[in-house]
Amino acid sequence: MSHTAAPVPVFQLMADELAERQASSLYRNRRVIDSPQGARVQLNGREVLNFCSNDYLGLANHPAIVAAAQQGAAEWGVGSGAAHLVTGHFTPQHTLEERLAALSGKPAAILVSTGFMANLAVIPALLGRGDAVFADKLNHASLNDACQLARADFKRFAHNDVAQLERLLSESTSKRKLIAVDAVFSMDGDIAPLAEMLALAEKYDALLYIDDAHGFGVLGDGRGTLAELGIDSPRIIYMATLGKGAGVAGAYIAAEQVVIDYLINTARAYIYTTAAPPLLACALHASLDIIEQDVERRARLQRHIATFRAALADAPCELLPSSTAIQPIIVKDNATALALSQALLDADILVAAIRPPTVPTPRLRVTLSAAHSDADVKLLCREIRRVLAAQG
Ligand SMILES: *Cc1c(COP(=O)(O)O)cnc(C)c1O
Repeated sequence: MSHTAAPVPVFQLMADELAERQASSLYRNRRVIDSPQGARVQLNGREVLNFCSNDYLGLANHPAIVAAAQQGAAEWGVGSGAAHLVTGHFTPQHTLEERLAALSGKPAAILVSTGFMANLAVIPALLGRGDAVFADKLNHASLNDACQLARADFKRFAHNDVAQLERLLSESTSKRKLIAVDAVFSMDGDIAPLAEMLALAEKYDALLYIDDAHGFGVLGDGRGTLAELGIDSPRIIYMATLGKGAGVAGAYIAAEQVVIDYLINTARAYIYTTAAPPLLACALHASLDIIEQDVERRARLQRHIATFRAALADAPCELLPSSTAIQPIIVKDNATALALSQALLDADILVAAIRPPTVPTPRLRVTLSAAHSDADVKLLCREIRRVLAAQG
């Protein structure tokens, strides 16, 4: 796409910046998908095998969840009509919160419309000027923005570097301290050393905020990364999103009752927004039924991860040490990432090229799902090997 001179001068600045992005293979386009989310999707009139959704359990178009959403619309309408603190907090949402709290082993939970909003709601509510937040450099963009918005001292440590985290904590004189990390890193797929971080939180009297966007529903028998690692503490404030593994939309925060009450009273991105439609809570109840009961779905995903890693172990590419559904392949530059992604697309396989500033180093980001068949994953591996060989 080319942008021509615009009548408003500032538009020309925008057009120039976009042209620069294009020149360095950083220009972003959206794809229009013409079918529901799934292992296969319709793209530009053809069916492609999809390895870039976060629908890890294949629940985004699950018939029982779709039916629950339809039933929810019939019973509760489509709009919530108000914020949670006014008249927008409905029975299915309240019971879902109780269920999510129990699932997370916490006394209380609140629902938020998206994970991005959950981070923007929590961090600035818990911290202000004079406080300190300690954050992994590879944290999700929404956590970084939330830390900026809090106006607290923003201390970043190298990815998973617990020693540096301890140094920063020991130097801090702030009264309120919060360690904030992704549990599963969205672009690398690895798991944060949360047990060590919890020990540091205890030693330095900090809280530990965990963003489990990619662990909930998938790890720890569906309960997420804390359950997977077997750790728990009142110091942990747990956030998980409900639009990835859970297949619907939204997020929740689970914590001690006092923390949840504090958020309900002070978290601006929670207080001043219209609640999500209650029908989504109905859909999420159905999703939790499946997450709690359908063990086979998680087993299938684990099998796909093992197949993928074994099949590409000796391929001429760098796999990151990830045991999760997120399997990045590091490539040498942006143009290579785009070329490989395009070559796969020519074979009707959709794999996203992820480039800076989303990540420090360009890569293909493969995400596996229980929606895929064994044959789908084998085909993916064969085609990746073929396009890598062709690329040289
Ligand atoms: C996707 C994601 C979010 C944002 O959640 P949404 O519900 O999509 O807004 C937050 N944190 C991490 C780590 C994510 O991957």
